Amino acid sequence: MNRDEAIALDLADPLQVLRSRFSLPAELIYLDGNSLGALPVGVAERVSEVIQAQWGRDLIASWNKHHWMDASARVGDRIAPLVGAEAGEVIVGDSTSINLYKLLCAAVRMRPDRSVIVTEQGNFPSDSYMVASVAEQFGLTVRLVDPHGNDPTVFGDDVAVVCLSHANYRTGALYDLPAVTSAVHDCGALMLWDLAHTAGVMPIDLSANGVDFAVGCGYKFLNGGPGAPSFSYVARHLQCEVHQPLTGWLGHVAPFAMSDTFVPADSIARLVVGTPSVLSLVALEAALDAFDGVSMADLRAKSVALGELMIERVGERLRGHGVTLVSPAESVRRASHVSLLHSNGYEIVQALIAQRVVGDYREPGLMRFGFAPLYTRYVEVFDAIELLADVLETGVWREPQFAVRASVT
Ligand SMILES: *Cc1c(COP(=O)(O)O)cnc(C)c1O
Repeated sequence: MNRDEAIALDLADPLQVLRSRFSLPAELIYLDGNSLGALPVGVAERVSEVIQAQWGRDLIASWNKHHWMDASARVGDRIAPLVGAEAGEVIVGDSTSINLYKLLCAAVRMRPDRSVIVTEQGNFPSDSYMVASVAEQFGLTVRLVDPHGNDPTVFGDDVAVVCLSHANYRTGALYDLPAVTSAVHDCGALMLWDLAHTAGVMPIDLSANGVDFAVGCGYKFLNGGPGAPSFSYVARHLQCEVHQPLTGWLGHVAPFAMSDTFVPADSIARLVVGTPSVLSLVALEAALDAFDGVSMADLRAKSVALGELMIERVGERLRGHGVTLVSPAESVRRASHVSLLHSNGYEIVQALIAQRVVGDYREPGLMRFGFAPLYTRYVEVFDAIELLADVLETGVWREPQFAVRASVT
């Protein structure tokens, strides 16, 4: 493909108008929406209005008057259709790490006669660490699946819960969510999916696949802003069986009764711990307007096409530069980012950022490029690989400033 053909793809793209729902710096190719989604138009105004007109004027009355207290459930109901859940099955609050802890504990308590938690080798650190911590706390053992082997026989009848990331954060490799969920249920275990890298870029059908639990990230493809609260999903029929360990006052059935003993809410609200981060919830709620009228199938189709374009250009332009594709080449097995391996990946990503192409770096040696089909253009993917080829051909990445490690990579 040449550059004109990439431009033609943008012109023919039915989703191209959605780019105007975002405020992106000119001349920047942003391929990191899988790490921090771009700022949607209107978010700043909504947050500012809540600060000035609600907090500033109505002060504490805003909890009722402006429905601050309902924000966790209300934003959950906005996310629900994006992940194939029903109203009342998703709630927003806390970080993904904390929500993993709550749901892992709840799951092992629901299978008291089972002794194993399954997760995958190389899962995202919080997922692995929380699994280890919960296993230690409950005296269970951890069994690791090989994400490449995907062998369902490890799901024996001693397994309480299986916790996997729908897409691997390093490689973008996707699990077959329906097949794995069904294998997990066949052995009587519960399934907890981490949707951090898939919510907001592809159709996900939690209800139809009978998924028990899920968590997902507010600041990646949902564009809720830095540190946006995470969402949790609990299938409705399990909600009254869930006993999560962080029993704060706002998970109580009647918080303002100020009772001495904890009685959980009879809904997903029992996952709430303490006072919601209202400003962050408002930002996420406003950001979700960017999905109005958008079909997840269309987003997925564009995300796949962007990924295929990148892989084609990598094959064409980067040969002989020591770069290898570590993401699955087959689109059905890949989420919405492509990772390339190079032993100097860190320096190369920094040199590319200096050329105003933003990807990110993950150990070991991975250069990661994400496609946010709401705003990423085909020509940007084309240009990004041209610039990456330049960086490799000129060797500019060897300049010492690119080797300086910042705390966030
Ligand atoms: C981004 C990400 C998280 C983030 O967790 P935080 O608690 O928000 O820092 C968790 N799990 C996976 C798989 C992720 O990709």
